[in-house]
Amino acid sequence: MSRPTAEDALRRRIEAEGGISVADYMAAANAAYYAGRDPLGAKGDFVTAPEISQMFGELIGLWLADLWMRADRPAGAVYVELGPGRGTLAADALRAMRSAGLAPPVHLVETSPVLRAAQAERIEGAAWHEDISTLPEAPLLLVANEFLDALPVRQFDAEGRELMVRIEDGRFVRDGAVEREDSPASLAIVAEIAGRLARHGGAAIVIDYGHDRPGRGDTLQAVSAHAYADPWEAPGSRDLTAHVDFHALAAAARAGGARVFGPRGQGDWLDAIGIGLRAAALARAAPARTEEIEAARLRLTAPDQMGRLFKAMALVAPRWPAPGGFA
Ligand code: SAH
Repeated sequence: MSRPTAEDALRRRIEAEGGISVADYMAAANAAYYAGRDPLGAKGDFVTAPEISQMFGELIGLWLADLWMRADRPAGAVYVELGPGRGTLAADALRAMRSAGLAPPVHLVETSPVLRAAQAERIEGAAWHEDISTLPEAPLLLVANEFLDALPVRQFDAEGRELMVRIEDGRFVRDGAVEREDSPASLAIVAEIAGRLARHGGAAIVIDYGHDRPGRGDTLQAVSAHAYADPWEAPGSRDLTAHVDFHALAAAARAGGARVFGPRGQGDWLDAIGIGLRAAALARAAPARTEEIEAARLRLTAPDQMGRLFKAMALVAPRWPAPGGFA
């Protein structure tokens, strides 16, 4: 008597078409996954950096405000976030920016109705976009945290054949061994952002887990209730991600007209832009929370926690100054 699920729909589609690419499988599974739920936080499937501590969003806001001031405060700059989740990072970043005298209009790129509603509760006066094509032609102050890892990857075998997903004995099965991956959707987004930066000015910070060398084989994974899960089971009810190929993204950004800084480990970058000072200031203001603040700082920066696998990469307009934290 259960209602048809996203999984049933995907199963029927694959049976009808005989097979679909891994990229189409990942896109369909994630669209269904994000459309129906808020996956973030202790009660959800995974925890992201902005949900660990306000320091993360605040430092990003100050990093953007610093660049904007050193670029001589260009008029018309807008704050843009791709896949803003609950809106926590944006709320923290915008508050920090206001303290630096910057209060830009807010444009959020988000497809999930559930998460749009969560964002609307935390951010006043935002405009939403289905994709980046409708963003204003203006200097961008852009943030993408754990966004690109959710975009579809293609997978290829050693002969260069694109792998497909089929149904066998009622199960989702990938039809070969993975030699390499790429993510045309991610490359297209980064190239378009770079072009906008080149035309109008601005800067973007992209933070994700991934590698800065190409050719890592199969990185597709699923997470459910804070544990790794099988990506070929229950599509639409677990989060599918793949490692971000920073090397390929940097090349696409340069070709699109932006200067590229990093990638640098999230821990080193946050240390360089002052997470130590921010943690100390928060602890002074709330001494009872000192241990909690220190634990959050370590979770974001320690090499065996989020500090090394997660990386930050900046794209900056040709005539803008060098960004903080990458020297
Ligand atoms: N940046 C947030 C959330 C990360 S989860 C944080 O750090 O907490 C990924 C986010 O990207 C969610 O908001 C999800 O709904 C959104 N998203 C995933 N695929 C998308 C797509 N193709 N277009 C727009 N948003 C997408």
